[in-house]
Amino acid sequence: MKILMHMCCGPCSCYPLKKLRAEGFEPTGFFFNPNIHPYQEWRKRLGAARDFAEKVQMDLQVVNHYGLREFLTKTAAVVEGIDGEDTVKFSDGYHNRCKICYAWRLGETAKFAAENNFEVFTSTLFYSIHQNHDLMKKIAENFAKSFGVKFFYEDFRAGWQEGIDISLELGLYRQNYCGCIFSEEERFSKDLKKIRKALKAKS
Ligand code: SF4
Repeated sequence: MKILMHMCCGPCSCYPLKKLRAEGFEPTGFFFNPNIHPYQEWRKRLGAARDFAEKVQMDLQVVNHYGLREFLTKTAAVVEGIDGEDTVKFSDGYHNRCKICYAWRLGETAKFAAENNFEVFTSTLFYSIHQNHDLMKKIAENFAKSFGVKFFYEDFRAGWQEGIDISLELGLYRQNYCGCIFSEEERFSKDLKKIRKALKAKS
């Protein structure tokens, strides 16, 4: 059975593809990630998605557009200053901007599925141990209803290590931060980590 599989990157697609094929699906990859910045990083991740698709002989559909400007416009209302509410993680550990980011990517995937004769869609976001899994599930189910397609849910996190091993065997480029320019700062800025720690101690 055909299924449209949104791909956040190459490495995160390894385990979901293996699992879906074992369950009788033949996925078509769908690369739509305006949340990946800066430009050269987006190019690298797109390159890894293409590399993966070629190595595993999977069809791939690409929205070949670097979306920094649109991402900033969409998230401007929720991204605050350095000590603002979006920079400091909420009690559930996630940012408001992530909700926008999930909805954008999952919504576009559901829409593409509906417009291109896929009855079902899923996403490799459900492989990540770093995302708000329950929130993404709710969002995907809502878009499935709106676009009249089915959302295939599976908790791909069960194959976390297996996915890493496959990506290493395939020699895929592996990124070291989530994607947006804010996540890059959060991953590498020691100053930001200090500010967060101080704010947490105050609260
Ligand atoms: S941290 Fe990741 S999920 Fe959240 S907005 Fe940035 S790219 Fe999207």
